[in-house]
Amino acid sequence: MTAAPADCPLCATQEAPAIWRDARLRVVTAGDPDYPGYLRVIWQAHVREMTDLEPAQREHFLLVVLAVERALRDTLRPEKINLASLGNQVAHLHWHVIPRFADDAHFPDPVWAARRRDATARTFDAGQFRARLTRVLGA
Ligand SMILES: [Zn+2]
Repeated sequence: MTAAPADCPLCATQEAPAIWRDARLRVVTAGDPDYPGYLRVIWQAHVREMTDLEPAQREHFLLVVLAVERALRDTLRPEKINLASLGNQVAHLHWHVIPRFADDAHFPDPVWAARRRDATARTFDAGQFRARLTRVLGA
């Protein structure tokens, strides 16, 4: 594990409200108005890459990422789920889990591409999602 830099925004928000959390990671909304179900799964400790984690930690991280995907599919019924782990701007391990719809602002391009249209408004019920995620995780 690398030392947490003082200016890391994901370290600074470790205790901020989350949709779901355990001792090792948290699930938060990305806060993107075009993508109300766009979530991030963030490892709590400041780690750069998946291969910096112990195998059991990696397994736990991926299990939660996939559970988030499952719960998003069950609650929003998107056309597609995009999973991404970039970290070029914030090198603190996190995954983006993005439900995509044919009428969203960028489809079929990545959400980081040039905007194609105004997104159709959608609502994301965080409470319903949390209940579904908890069931998927068996927690
Ligand atoms: Zn950090």
